Amino acid sequence: MDAREIRDLPEPTASPELGDLGELAQLAQLAQLAQLAQLGRALWHDADTGLRQTTETLATVALQDLTPQRMAEKTSSILLQTARRMGPRANADVSHLPFYRLQPEERWVLTALYHCHWSYSRIARVLSVSSEEMQQLAWAARLQLSTSLGSGIAPAPIPTGSLWKDGSSCPDYDLSRPWTQRFLDEEMSARECAFIQAHLQGCPTCREALVRARKLYYGVAQMVPQGEREQDAKILSRALKGSARLRHRSEIDFATSLRIFLRRPEIQFLFLVLAAWFAFSFLHH
Ligand SMILES: [Zn+2]
Repeated sequence: MDAREIRDLPEPTASPELGDLGELAQLAQLAQLAQLAQLGRALWHDADTGLRQTTETLATVALQDLTPQRMAEKTSSILLQTARRMGPRANADVSHLPFYRLQPEERWVLTALYHCHWSYSRIARVLSVSSEEMQQLAWAARLQLSTSLGSGIAPAPIPTGSLWKDGSSCPDYDLSRPWTQRFLDEEMSARECAFIQAHLQGCPTCREALVRARKLYYGVAQMVPQGEREQDAKILSRALKGSARLRHRSEIDFATSLRIFLRRPEIQFLFLVLAAWFAFSFLHH
């Protein structure tokens, strides 16, 4: 199990009701909310719009009984649809920034990877695509942003599958989603990682490919904006508390209000009249 898989394990709590949560669960939930706020900023450059969209969507999604993690994913997927519907006009005032010239999905994926450290599988789940398609999308977005980084980022040499003395060859280098990206995103299994590291010792071409990919990776990271996470998380947490109260109230309310309703004398009288009427019409048929 690698670091990403451990990060993706379900949290200890299944209920988003803050009042019932332990301190740790609350912290975990605040972290999820901070990430949600961050992802909202990726879709809308205007901080108020991003936070408002995220708050409203989260408040609706929170009416369902979901774990904080699922809630973040569902909210994200709805926000992505909203951003797509609104189109590029929503960020027209910052169209000079290369990041906001990317598609909403591309901005969202880069933010999820760099600032939220979401795993490939989790990101792919939100986008409803395969992990391979998600990696292609991320790589294409990174390449597009790298063009504005200047001459420092030259295309990497493509390692040819040259055979080594020990019979091993270079790892497959897929141009649309190279292994270097998976390596830098920490998405390799421990075994794969060990193989790559051993291979790099003896293969200058792969070493060079990784050096250039690393330059691109960190260069692009600088272009992915970051927001006021803690402050935004508190605002989202308030919205969540409101929804949790509403959900809680609607659950007990139905049973309670039915009992109160049935206890009212005029209702009991009405039932008596109805019963009498049924009995009367039954007897007279
Ligand atoms: Zn190699």
